[in-house]
Amino acid sequence: MKFASIGSGSEGNGTLICSGDGDVVLLDCGFSGREAVKRLATLNLGLEDISAILVTHEHSDHVKGVALLANKGRIPVYCTWGTWAAKLHTVLDESLLTVISPHQRFSIGNILVQPVPVPHDAREPCQFVFESSGQRLGILTDVGSITPHMVEQYQRCDALMLECNHDLNMLAESAYPPSLKRRVAGPLGHLNNQQAAEMLGQLDCSRLQHLVATHISQKNNHPELAMQALRGVVGFSPDRIRIAKQCSGFAWLEIEVRTVACGKQTITN
Ligand SMILES: [Zn+2]
Ligand SMILES: [Zn+2]
Repeated sequence: MKFASIGSGSEGNGTLICSGDGDVVLLDCGFSGREAVKRLATLNLGLEDISAILVTHEHSDHVKGVALLANKGRIPVYCTWGTWAAKLHTVLDESLLTVISPHQRFSIGNILVQPVPVPHDAREPCQFVFESSGQRLGILTDVGSITPHMVEQYQRCDALMLECNHDLNMLAESAYPPSLKRRVAGPLGHLNNQQAAEMLGQLDCSRLQHLVATHISQKNNHPELAMQALRGVVGFSPDRIRIAKQCSGFAWLEIEVRTVACGKQTITN
């Protein structure tokens, strides 16, 4: 399995998940159609390469280009009923829609998808853990607080994209109006660096190959502060923690299949 991003942050998000067999899922598309096509091309992808679009929630930084790409490329779209009803129903061809339950796993080709309902100020938001060939990729953004269910679902990931939205001090001192500060820092807002570190600290990271800090605020955070917070938890060297950028996301990261020697047998896990 491999994954990449065409951009991450409040100006637009889009993540690609690709199985070893060539199934490609686009998770969210918060860019205009034209911009998304341009960004997908940098990963050598055209609309014809995308097997499905999966949507976490209806905020425009996640949904802006979804209907345009889907209608144009006849790409199936998977989302909860709440996400459909909040936004997509006005713009997406309904014949492309598959409604998912936020509690029930499903498959897109050889990719098994586990939805995880999360606290965020949207109608029916969920985040996802992807599994293919025994490898697990967890993606968690747009989350205001950490729930026991989230902690349970994101255990033992081989790769993790984790929201580090803001630094609490920078947010407090920023020019944001008080209502927006309360929203961002509130229980239905976004994870700050400390919360991200706290979440990570509750996870079994023994299999973790890739850790990517995502949805970083350009006004209320610094990549270095996010890195510092996460580094302290997993003890990764700085070069093993990546930052997903707003302007360009990040290039393909391959999750390696790990082989563990066990007596005369080699177990692939
Ligand atoms: Zn967002
Ligand atoms: Zn959101």
